[in-house]
Amino acid sequence: MGTRRNFLEKLTVSAIGLPILGSPANLFAASGEPYQGPVLRVAIMGLGSYGNRVARAMVSCKRSKLVGVISGTPSKVADWRVKYDIPEKNCYNYDNFDQIKDNPDIDAVYVITPNGLHKDHAIRAARAGKHVICEKPMGINAREGQEMVDACKAANVRLLIGYRMHFEPKTVEVIRMRMAGEFGKPKFFQGQSGFVIGDPTQWRLNKKLAGGGAMMDIGIYSINGARYMLGEEPVWVTAQETKTDPVKFKEGVDETIQFQMGFPSGAVANCLSTYAMNHLDRFFLNGEDGFAEMQPSSGYGPIEGRTHKGELTQPHITHQTLQMDGMAQLIFDGVEPIVPVDGEEGVKDMKIIDAIFQAVKTGKRVDL
Ligand code: NAD
Repeated sequence: MGTRRNFLEKLTVSAIGLPILGSPANLFAASGEPYQGPVLRVAIMGLGSYGNRVARAMVSCKRSKLVGVISGTPSKVADWRVKYDIPEKNCYNYDNFDQIKDNPDIDAVYVITPNGLHKDHAIRAARAGKHVICEKPMGINAREGQEMVDACKAANVRLLIGYRMHFEPKTVEVIRMRMAGEFGKPKFFQGQSGFVIGDPTQWRLNKKLAGGGAMMDIGIYSINGARYMLGEEPVWVTAQETKTDPVKFKEGVDETIQFQMGFPSGAVANCLSTYAMNHLDRFFLNGEDGFAEMQPSSGYGPIEGRTHKGELTQPHITHQTLQMDGMAQLIFDGVEPIVPVDGEEGVKDMKIIDAIFQAVKTGKRVDL
């Protein structure tokens, strides 16, 4: 540890105009030197839509490499073996993957299965002695998240959550500006996250597998964004739900929730999470002395935005490439991203989601 402090020290340097040495973007700044350090050897569990996106992005990674798969579908495994040159001995299914403990050629398992399965999958990977990278939301409530944190601690492995925005250059710049006081005291955040969900039979609309609806899937970006844009943890939430299609969005599966959060400094956040609107992906931060506006703010990018000082011009680099190289750096060198991506960070978001659901149910303000 101590590296987070180093990072912050480097940030201070950047405030006087030098490059951010710890910035993820600089991982890719052409140094001319081929990378010679350790490589994080990753097995992806769940070869669905996002697993495929991560695998494609990892082809460009320097510090991490896709070397294995865990899947229940043999045809997908065959396809991935050819595409990514994966040896048969690194391929598992959901029944036999505990045997991964005897495989010295895999360092980490990246869990990219439906939310309701994350806890069990992550804990099994940890018990097999592998570092765990788990997609958001880390589980379906804070209790599950804490169980995962505890299991990974007991197994002496890292638990990291797929918070790719914590490595995204324009996002990192806005957080740096906030830390450097360039917005003055942050006062207000607005986060709007949504898209129109399709197929009514998909797991995202199944309470058991999804843990909820839009909030678990997309609203979590506004929650996490509020925390990293304002730089504080909320102390209360209020929330209101609207449902226009109770057939598609069954009991416990939220379609649209508006929610508000209050922070110790007096800052407030006003957010919207929905499965009923496309192109909703916007963050707005207002401080006493300035603002940042990002739209899109958490999609796959390019992220676009401006502050009171002008356009954000940091380069677009595939988020998952940055994330996986950043996570390798974190695991091997202890280099922390600007905002943590560990299990504890995941639990903080889960606690807020639990409180939002409680506020919806009771109609009352819920203290955190
Ligand atoms: P998906 O449906 O495309 O893929 C899920 C995979 O899990 C499939 O390969 C499926 O076969 C497998 N699976 C294993 N057991 C299953 C079961 N019992 N029921 C259904 N599927 C099962 O979903 P996805 O979009 O890839 O999402 C997977 C995870 O990734 C979710 O937690 C989601 O929130 C997360 N995600 C994160 C991002 C991001 O930007 N960080 C983006 C998309 C999805």
